[in-house]
Amino acid sequence: MTQDHLHHLGLLLFASPWSSNWPFLFLPLMAWVVGRKAVSTLDQMGSDPLWQQSMSIHLSCLPGLVMLSLGIFALLALRVAEIDSLLCFVVFVVPVLISSFALFRAIMLLMRRCGALNALRDQTIPASNRLQHIADEVGVNARELPANGFACMVAGVFRPIVIMSTAAVDSLTDKQIHAVLLHERAHLTRRDTLWATLVTFIADCGFWPAEKVLRVYRRSREIMADRLACQNTDQLLLASVLVRFARGIQHGESSLVENFAEQSSVSVRVKLLIEDEPQSHSSRCRVQVGFAIVFASALVVYPFLLRMAVVYWLHC
Ligand SMILES: [Zn+2]
Repeated sequence: MTQDHLHHLGLLLFASPWSSNWPFLFLPLMAWVVGRKAVSTLDQMGSDPLWQQSMSIHLSCLPGLVMLSLGIFALLALRVAEIDSLLCFVVFVVPVLISSFALFRAIMLLMRRCGALNALRDQTIPASNRLQHIADEVGVNARELPANGFACMVAGVFRPIVIMSTAAVDSLTDKQIHAVLLHERAHLTRRDTLWATLVTFIADCGFWPAEKVLRVYRRSREIMADRLACQNTDQLLLASVLVRFARGIQHGESSLVENFAEQSSVSVRVKLLIEDEPQSHSSRCRVQVGFAIVFASALVVYPFLLRMAVVYWLHC
């Protein structure tokens, strides 16, 4: 390809009327594809939950960060633009409309989750004396959910509480309830629901469904909470209770609610709890996912690169 052809291609991509619009569709998509490709490698990092967590947060947020970065630059460009033709509208206003829609959609999804959380909290009743006594020992605020199945979760963002089903309270021994509440206390200490809500909101801004990467993030939070709980309880006891909860009530996966035993993560968690020294391929996985994150992060700074290309290469 000659230099002239390259120059024409550059003008088409970076200085045509569509140059300010196509990135909103393709760049978050590219970041999303990178995240999807890295999921299987991330999956293998269960024995290294700290890295798994931070890397899954990065990959979940990247499509949304790309969209927000494009939106901020579109707003800055609109501030100094004069909209006196359809062409100017396409170049300066449409990008702002696209990013505003992405933000609006993320806010609506958050509101819907808040509605579901409020409905769940409204169903709860004060904890029975037995649950209250153990919760006081562990140092958590607990309520009961009148339900026949096994369920336990942390619910809420700024003032989260622990909710346990009446069937679970009636069926489990004090030691087992104690172990479950230690796991939930770990979520409260780490402010997991707050971080999960923030990460999910940014991920939602990216339009493309980041559910697979978010699921890995959710699992890493559970493994971290298991590890913290096991500082004060027996691993095998926690594993056995986890299995009992696995067939219980499954509340929909939400960033505002941390279920004690989500079916998607129970088998991995039980395996890690019963293995003395879990196998780890972590360093190889860290390098592979690290490269993916560096590549996708470059997409966030695309507007800077675009400005440099237009000024220094295309001279317009
Ligand atoms: Zn949990």
